[in-house]
Amino acid sequence: MSPPTPPFSEEHEQLRDSVRGFLERELTPHAQRWEEEEWFPDEIFPLLAGQGLLGLKYPAEYGGQGGDYLHEAILCEELARVGSGGTAAGIGAHVNIATPPIWKFGTEEQKQRYLVPAIQGVKIGALGITEPGAGSDVASLRTRAERADGGWVLNGEKTYITNGVRADFIVTAVRTSPEGGHHGTSFLIVDRGEGVSSAKLAKLGWHASDTATIAFEDVFVPGQNLLGPLNEGFKLIMANFQWERLAMALGAVGAMQLAWERTAAFARERHAFGRPLAGHQAIRHKLVDLATSAYACRCVTYDALRRFVAGEEPVSEVTMAKLLTQRASFELMDACLQIHGGAGYMREYWVERAARDARLGPIGGGSDEIMREILGRTLGL
Ligand SMILES: Cc1cc2nc3c(=O)[nH]c(=O)nc-3n(C[C@H](O)[C@H](O)[C@H](O)COP(=O)(O)OP(=O)(O)OC[C@H]3O[C@@H](n4cnc5c(N)ncnc54)[C@H](O)[C@@H]3O)c2cc1C
Repeated sequence: MSPPTPPFSEEHEQLRDSVRGFLERELTPHAQRWEEEEWFPDEIFPLLAGQGLLGLKYPAEYGGQGGDYLHEAILCEELARVGSGGTAAGIGAHVNIATPPIWKFGTEEQKQRYLVPAIQGVKIGALGITEPGAGSDVASLRTRAERADGGWVLNGEKTYITNGVRADFIVTAVRTSPEGGHHGTSFLIVDRGEGVSSAKLAKLGWHASDTATIAFEDVFVPGQNLLGPLNEGFKLIMANFQWERLAMALGAVGAMQLAWERTAAFARERHAFGRPLAGHQAIRHKLVDLATSAYACRCVTYDALRRFVAGEEPVSEVTMAKLLTQRASFELMDACLQIHGGAGYMREYWVERAARDARLGPIGGGSDEIMREILGRTLGL
């Protein structure tokens, strides 16, 4: 089935072919091993940079490809096909959430110091917002930065941070004023160094990624590392969320498509009671429902993407795409696992990993409940 009125041009599709080929050669064959080792090599970043894949949407003057969000969207979909949620998450955190605020809100000097090496893959970034006591309720974050001679002194703790062990710099949300709530939040770009320590967390899925707690103990951050206006960090958080959520929706769409193709092939080959699984109506209907769900997710996501690229502020559409796709992806993976029977429960089968990896979607980047709260407001409820 051809994709719904794609927002992509022929040039974008050519990029897709070359990205898919590259990832299939360089990443996919290692995906299972990286998941078992619970780490993908840092060298993947310069490897991707060599193909221009860490700077697709960034201007050429910073070493980017001068493309647009549609080029980046292709990377999001294709990374999901590598079959390691953790690898896609680590690369995605760098490209989709850590570097965009520097591009949008950074000074020229910050762009030279962080964005340029990030696009080259020689510096790895992370975004540090979540804290042990502040996840969905971002406004209650407590990591504090106090004025010091020439900069700030930072104390506090972040948790569940993707790339939290390997990151060279952490784009960190901090409290810069005793005033509570949304006011008094700012962003600092924190270099790994004295006073910064990370502890990797064990988790259900995304094994190849390093999700970590990061502690800041009397960390000196120079004044020029303030990112965006003082005490207006909340705007930066909100600006970042739209692309992050769209990127997650695109990843789900890519992963769902691949899972469906593989499961349909399995159901045609595997026999039970004298016929292929797909010959049993219950399985055939299940596969049809899954294809319908994947198609609906793609339509909603592409609509939000088209609006986002056109410069609209499609908060409702992006939120709906995130809400719909993340839950649907998890449900689709679970159904695909079921169709694989006992094999689906085995580590050696891709679907066991895909089902675990998909569970993060309804939690990360703003949970399902928070998406519903946002939609409640945008729908005037
Ligand atoms: C693998 C992984 C990677 C991550 N990577 C990053 C990262 O790179 N950077 C980063 O900053 N963060 C990251 N996160 C954090 C993620 O964004 C948070 O986990 C998420 O926002 C939820 O916050 P929380 O875990 O504190 O849950 P809580 O906010 O404590 O929520 C707990 C439950 O209560 C629900 N809930 C909360 N408020 C309401 C409400 N008002 N109404 C109804 N229900 C509500 C939530 O939906 C959830 O089900 C990551 C998380 C994971 C698991």
